[in-house]
Amino acid sequence: MPSIFTKIINGEIPCYKIAEDADNFAFLDINPNAKGHTLCVPKKEVDRLLDLDEEAYLKLMAFSRKVGQAIEAVVPCERVGMSVIGLEVPHVHVHLIPLQSMKNATFQYKESLTPKEFEKVAEQISGALK
Ligand code: 5GP
Repeated sequence: MPSIFTKIINGEIPCYKIAEDADNFAFLDINPNAKGHTLCVPKKEVDRLLDLDEEAYLKLMAFSRKVGQAIEAVVPCERVGMSVIGLEVPHVHVHLIPLQSMKNATFQYKESLTPKEFEKVAEQISGALK
């Protein structure tokens, strides 16, 4: 059965999309640690980061770097943190999280955004990529 992220990539489940290229797809995390928290996901469904072949791994990191730079350009933060966890969704994803402090890195502190706030920050980040 396809993962929830494959369904998002295929447009079967809505998301606040940030960007895509031939191999990877980025969208806002629906339960963010901070405004602008973004997930970068390889289109090929693999459960664990370290099981990606080297080329797919390097492409995901290069894609995540570009998206992270766009986040840093438009979301006020100390820096963008990067985490790979994967305990909830078994489809590789890089968390890009605008950090003000360690609390944003814990996955215990969460921020509530309205649909308009999600839309706006997604537009700002994707706009900074162009
Ligand atoms: P992890 O697998 O790294 O522990 O966490 C999975 C992440 O995916 C969580 O931060 C969660 O909020 C996010 N997530 C789970 N389901 C969805 C979804 O349907 N849409 C979006 N945009 N994010 C999701």
